[in-house]
Amino acid sequence: MSGRIVIVGTGVAGATAAQTLRREGYAGEIVLLGAEPDLPYRRPAVSKELLAATASVERVLLKPVKFWADNAIELRPAIRVEAVDTDRATVRLHTGEVLGYDSLLLATGARARTIGADSPRVYTLRTRADVAGLHSAVDAGGSLLVLGGGLIGCEVAATARGLGARVTLLEAGPALLDRVVPAPVSEMVRALHREHGVTVETEVRTAELAEGGEGVIATTADGRAFTAAAALVAIGSVPDTALAEAAGIAVDDGIVVDQHYRTSASGVFAAGDVASAFHPHRDAFERAQHWNAAQSDGAAAAKAMLGLPAAPAEIPWGWTDQHGVSMQFAGWVHPHDELVVDGDPAARDFLAVALRAGRPVGAVAMARPRELRAARALIAAGDPWAAELARVR
Ligand SMILES: Cc1cc2nc3c(=O)[nH]c(=O)nc-3n(C[C@H](O)[C@H](O)[C@H](O)COP(=O)(O)OP(=O)(O)OC[C@H]3O[C@@H](n4cnc5c(N)ncnc54)[C@H](O)[C@@H]3O)c2cc1C
Repeated sequence: MSGRIVIVGTGVAGATAAQTLRREGYAGEIVLLGAEPDLPYRRPAVSKELLAATASVERVLLKPVKFWADNAIELRPAIRVEAVDTDRATVRLHTGEVLGYDSLLLATGARARTIGADSPRVYTLRTRADVAGLHSAVDAGGSLLVLGGGLIGCEVAATARGLGARVTLLEAGPALLDRVVPAPVSEMVRALHREHGVTVETEVRTAELAEGGEGVIATTADGRAFTAAAALVAIGSVPDTALAEAAGIAVDDGIVVDQHYRTSASGVFAAGDVASAFHPHRDAFERAQHWNAAQSDGAAAAKAMLGLPAAPAEIPWGWTDQHGVSMQFAGWVHPHDELVVDGDPAARDFLAVALRAGRPVGAVAMARPRELRAARALIAAGDPWAAELARVR
């Protein structure tokens, strides 16, 4: 198969798709376009090694610099695609250049959500370029308000604390990480932050974030005020669907794709955080939003573009590192699920399996990577017998 495949987005989904196309024997042109100035790098390092300044971006590149040229992949960083014309099968770059495609992959990922405050002291964190300002704000004993107790908020709180900052973490919901872990694990995470000197406040909804005094003031819905030299807004992300929407491609939360990663436009595919795909285990459309899922999405979309058979849908999983402790999670955990716990969350050595109507649907583990892998297989099998297995493990 020859021709030209254009990929928009140099995150893990786009970069993995480019590699997979070559590995699967695609002989045509591959053009990989990305708005960020860097070569493809591991985004999870942004809130960990890069923010802590224990690694440079060169140390967290997805592939060695020469990999792209060696594999005849035309990698073009610092290029923003401004428009897609699905009738003419072209993309227009910010430079004015117009490129034709035989197939197009949209892997434009997501952007950080933010609230109001147009202030140099208010940060969001998504890219390598976002790191420098936040790092200097928290390095050498500054103070930081973190709005949002999800994965990024918790990781930044831990990293900032490690750099010596005074950190206050404000979460609107009742618990930290409640989208991915069950209540006892969430309690343990809160205790971990407390041990390391992070002030955690839950059920605190920030109504307004404004500059004031020497820094920023977060005013809460119940009238309280929290101040710090700087603030990180970590209240989730929104899929970067602008290109697709403007091109008239169907979008519903993310870019809607079928099981072959095809969008509503002929020859146009989507993968990674931006794509909304039907997940058979969950019986619903959802976006990946974890590194491994975006990576396997990119590989699967590349195969689909070449007409190769799709691998079965995987149970999504992710990890987080906070205060030197690593935790893995898989599937879909809801606070009301029945929980089977082997080990002790407080001792940071456990596997917790969430059961819904007797079937395993999610799992969280610390210090037990093999058990988490086994739990993913149980979730994939999804039958009550597997639940029994989980119960007696
Ligand atoms: C700070 C942080 C820490 C994380 N930590 C973890 C973790 O520990 N574990 C985990 O499992 N997951 C983690 N994640 C999530 C994980 O990194 C993402 O799920 C994954 O990177 C998504 O990959 P992607 O390729 O779909 O999108 P992205 O990584 O968002 O890449 C999309 C790229 O497309 C580019 N783009 C967008 N529009 C255009 C355009 N018009 N023209 C050109 N380029 C464009 C963007 O600039 C971006 O470079 C973390 C995410 C963040 C932000």
